[in-house]
Formats: sequence, structure tokens, C-alpha cells
Amino acid sequence: MPPGSSVSEKHDCAVIIIGGGPCGLVLAIELGRRGVSTIVLEEKTSPARFPAANATQARTMEHYRRLGFAEKVRAQGLPEDYPTDIAYFTRYTKHELARFSLPSARAAREMVRTLTGSWSAAELPHRVSQMFVEDVLRAEATACPTVSIRPGWRMAAVRDTGTGVEVDAEHDGGRTTLRAAYAMGADGGSSPTRKALGYSYAGESGAVVVRQVMEAKDGEGFNALTGEYVDMFKAGILTPTKVERTALQNASEVAILLLTTDCIVVEAPKKAGAAGGHDHDHGDGGMGGMGGMGGMM
Ligand SMILES: Cc1cc2nc3c(=O)[nH]c(=O)nc-3n(C[C@H](O)[C@H](O)[C@H](O)COP(=O)(O)OP(=O)(O)OC[C@H]3O[C@@H](n4cnc5c(N)ncnc54)[C@H](O)[C@@H]3O)c2cc1C
Repeated sequence: MPPGSSVSEKHDCAVIIIGGGPCGLVLAIELGRRGVSTIVLEEKTSPARFPAANATQARTMEHYRRLGFAEKVRAQGLPEDYPTDIAYFTRYTKHELARFSLPSARAAREMVRTLTGSWSAAELPHRVSQMFVEDVLRAEATACPTVSIRPGWRMAAVRDTGTGVEVDAEHDGGRTTLRAAYAMGADGGSSPTRKALGYSYAGESGAVVVRQVMEAKDGEGFNALTGEYVDMFKAGILTPTKVERTALQNASEVAILLLTTDCIVVEAPKKAGAAGGHDHDHGDGGMGGMGGMGGMM
């Protein structure tokens, strides 16, 4: 969007939001609460009922609290006294391997009042299906007089005109061109808006970097700042201090594991130089001698 775009008489609204999922709806609420005229285009005619998010995290709940409807979200989902534990079993109704105890919605309301220090928060996470959260968000957005939600309207094309945007929307078998100062693509991970405007994701693929580093010479690694594969020592990325700090950190993590574990199955260490043996000590100041868990026993 051109900076400084402003609403003119030729515009249908100030902002067109493409996509009425959680992001689009929250933006519509933020704009609507500020009296900004907004149209939300949502291609689905009715809310999706397929499974997506099943947990709303604490930070998101805090945003809902700031907007004044965290309690409406917390009232959705499981009955308020149902536990939301995560447990692992060998089979349904068979041996329980592990359990993370998590509070019910009612317990979460109580617990959050007594949290202190680094565990303090305004809201705790809430287990609820995304479709119920979206119902709350849609109702809140609809309640804003300047927000118009258009279910069944699909963005077919979007253009930057230099003084605003034009969005071609298909609905009821017809096609309408809407004009606004700004358009916002909130149309999900595969975003047709992003593709229409020719934007692509930046950054590196972790899997590609790991493969390149695995095939690189000893001491070579990825410089994330420049995007180059370099000698990590010559480039000053890997320093003796960093190696020592990492070694100490790893040692303390292994010590914690040993102190808190009842039973560990290990493999007997192989002598360096034995067939297939490889102790990762490249004599280059790396993490030689760690030798995996076997080496620690
Ligand atoms: C199985 C699963 C489990 C998940 N679990 C969690 C979880 O536990 N916690 C969590 O926080 N997140 C979870 N997520 C992620 C979460 O669902 C997404 O982060 C969230 O839906 C993103 O919201 P959004 O509004 O950006 O996009 P979306 O929810 O994808 O919404 C985009 C909207 O744009 C509409 N649209 C698309 N194209 C057009 C067009 N051309 N014109 C008009 N409208 C259009 C779509 O119909 C859709 O309604 C999960 C996702 C999945 C699939």
C-alpha cells in the first residue's frame, strides 16, 4: 500500500480485509472499535466446522482480555469443570505413560489470581476449538457499526492503484470492484493476496541449511547474518568462549537429566578408530569428548 493513503469519496471504505479467520476478525474489531470503516471479505458462506486450533495460548487470551471478551472465549469449549490434561497411553484404556496436568476453565480463573513472579500472567491458556473462538470474534466484529462482514465474497484480484487499492470480489455469481485506501491480506497461510501481489516468503529453509552443513567441511557452518556458508572460526562466529560455554551448558543439562531420571538405557562407548566408530572429536576446538550419552556413563 502507498504510504499516506487516505479515504476519499471514491472509496467504499477505508480498509478491505481479505479473509474472515481469527486474524481478519481481530483486525476488524481493532479497526471497528476506532470507528474505521472496514469491509471483511470471507469466501465461506458459513463458518468452517473442520478442526483447526484446539488451544488458545495465554498471550492470545491476554489480547482478548484487552479487547474485553476473554471471558466470552473462556466460556466456550469444554464444560468449565472438565480437566484439560494431556496424557499419553499405550492404548486407549491401557497403561498411562505420562500426564501433563492442566487446569479446567474454572480452575484457570482461580489459579491466575495467585500466580507470582515469572509465572504471573493476566490470563492462562484455554482449551477450545477454533470454530467457537471464531463465533465470538465474528459477533464482536459484527457489533462494530463501521464493520461490514461479507460471507460468500471471494477476493478474485487485488490491485495497488498508487492512491489506494481495488479489490475484485466474486459473490452470488457476480463480480464487484471495491475500492479502499488499504487492503489487508488475512487469507491464511496460502494467502491468495500474497500471491496476487507477487510477494514470497523470505528466509532459509532449516532442512536445507542442516543438509548443507552436514555435507560441509569440518568447521564450516551457516552464517545466518549474511546467508553464507563460511569457516565458523575464521568468521569469528565460533569462539573458544562460546565452545566452553556450550560445553558447560551441555554438561549441566546432562547432569540434570541423570539426577532426575530413574533409569537410562545406554550404549557402551566404542573406541575411537574402531570400525564405524566416530567420536565427533575433530581436534578443532569443537565439542570433542562429549561422545553422546554413552560417553557420559
Ligand atoms: C489441525 C490444526 C491445528 C491447529 N492447532 C492450533 C492450536 O492448537 N493453537 C493455535 O494457536 N493455532 C493452531 N493452529 C493454527 C491456526 O488454526 C491458524 O494459525 C489460524 O487459523 C490462522 O488464522 P488466520 O486468520 O491467519 O487464517 P485462517 O484461519 O486460514 O483464515 C483465513 C480466512 O481467509 C479466507 N479466505 C481465503 N482466501 C480467500 C479469498 N480469496 N477471498 C476471501 N476469503 C478468503 C478463508 O476462507 C479463511 O476463513 C492449527 C491449525 C490446524 C490446521
